[in-house]
Amino acid sequence: MQTKLLINGQLVAGEGAVQAVLNPSLGTTLVEIHEASAAQVDAAVRAADAAFEGWSQTSPKDRSSLLLKLADTIEAHTEELARLESDNCGKPYSAALNDELPAIADVFRFFAGASRCLGGSAAGEYLPGHTSMIRRDPLGVVASIAPWNYPLMMVAWKIAPALAAGNTVVLKPSEQTPLTALKLADFLAEIFPAGVVNIVFGRGPSVGAPLTSHPKVRMVSLTGSIPTGSAIIGSTADSVKRMHMELGGKAPVIIFDDADIDAAVEGIRTFGFYNAGQDCTAACRIYAQKGIYDTFVAKLGEAVSTIKYGLQDDQGTELGPLITAAHRDRVAGFVERALAQPHIRLITGGKAVEGNGFFFEPTVLADARQDDEIVRREVFGPVVSVTPFVEENQVLAWANDSDYGLASSVWTADVGRAHRLAARLQYGCTWVNTHFMLVSEMPHGGVKQSGYGKDMSLYGLEDYTAIRHVMFKH
Ligand code: NAD
Repeated sequence: MQTKLLINGQLVAGEGAVQAVLNPSLGTTLVEIHEASAAQVDAAVRAADAAFEGWSQTSPKDRSSLLLKLADTIEAHTEELARLESDNCGKPYSAALNDELPAIADVFRFFAGASRCLGGSAAGEYLPGHTSMIRRDPLGVVASIAPWNYPLMMVAWKIAPALAAGNTVVLKPSEQTPLTALKLADFLAEIFPAGVVNIVFGRGPSVGAPLTSHPKVRMVSLTGSIPTGSAIIGSTADSVKRMHMELGGKAPVIIFDDADIDAAVEGIRTFGFYNAGQDCTAACRIYAQKGIYDTFVAKLGEAVSTIKYGLQDDQGTELGPLITAAHRDRVAGFVERALAQPHIRLITGGKAVEGNGFFFEPTVLADARQDDEIVRREVFGPVVSVTPFVEENQVLAWANDSDYGLASSVWTADVGRAHRLAARLQYGCTWVNTHFMLVSEMPHGGVKQSGYGKDMSLYGLEDYTAIRHVMFKH
């Protein structure tokens, strides 16, 4: 197993404290890895800084061809990467292999092409006798910090646009799920010039904090929780670095009486529980209209009770464990507090599963109210709440009454209503009659405390550049 860091083109063992990396399905240790020491974090940033001049001057065509090579290499190792991801996260092997790995290769291919299409928006005479042009140039060293829920996918979302735009990168994967990123280091060392991409392993306080606050880092790109985002913004405020923040979510899912109820039930069974609900866009905060409410809750409970949880290689496993015992206990705490409310009904699930793995039963809670904790806070587990509503303006106000603003969906047969709501929902994304679908060409990112900056799409590429004005006197 590849457990070394990548610093200045060399694979080197970490020299910091040792961290156990677990298999959450079994609760066993997969491997122990040494974190980067403070000196190694510094060396990685200095290597990226030294590589910036050369890399930023390569042509888009050359950057593109290396990103395509990386995509090809990922595809050639797809089973090995899916195995590592599945063992380290407990997610079904088939989901890692068939859903995530193809999407990861596609992200690198998209940004390989996009890097050749990046352009300034104007060239013209805005003052007599002068010509202005707009350039989009890379920023310098980007510190990329990734979470544990889709480890290699988040690495792709972070490093592909940064490199495509001509920046150099120091990446820190989550301390819980570093294995695919460290395997990628093998490929990166072969494909990219020394120092262009560096990977350091370790926890937030010991490795993430010195990395993000390093004076040579020009931009921090985080996918993680809101507290981590605000801690990084606060601790780096003095040096005024560019920030790119993809933070938590609590997606409202609005189901009207005229919706295709079976499609909505199937959609929530899939998109509320995919990756054991450990997804920032999970379809978890459901509002169902009064006319269909009872039928919908009954059908949803029945559908969710058939979700099969189990080991990542077991035939038919749909739902894996939560990432750690602490996270499972956190999810259990949300459900216990919800059920302590006399008005909330448990429809299915509700308990942690006995055993050494960190499993939690797929859970539906009905009759939740807008002010309940279960409606307001991100659970990040296989738990959805359902709240009844009467009319459109009421549900729109409830959906927008949230600190989060990442994703939302509306389920209705009325096209006019779908447009009205889509225009007024304060979320980075609104799906109509579906949920969760992402493509490399379209931007992903939030508003409000879900953060700012976009992943994927040409907007994602632009986020990793500075707009510059160059003026010529004739
Ligand atoms: P987290 O915030 O605990 O950790 C994210 C990363 O930040 C990890 O690599 C961690 O080591 C690092 N970190 C922690 N403290 C740090 C510090 N002080 N300085 C620098 N780095 C630090 O999040 P998590 O538990 O790994 O992931 C779950 C969260 O991520 C959820 O809130 C989820 O909604 C969010 N998320 C958002 C998106 C999105 O696209 N918006 C996607 C996936 C996950």
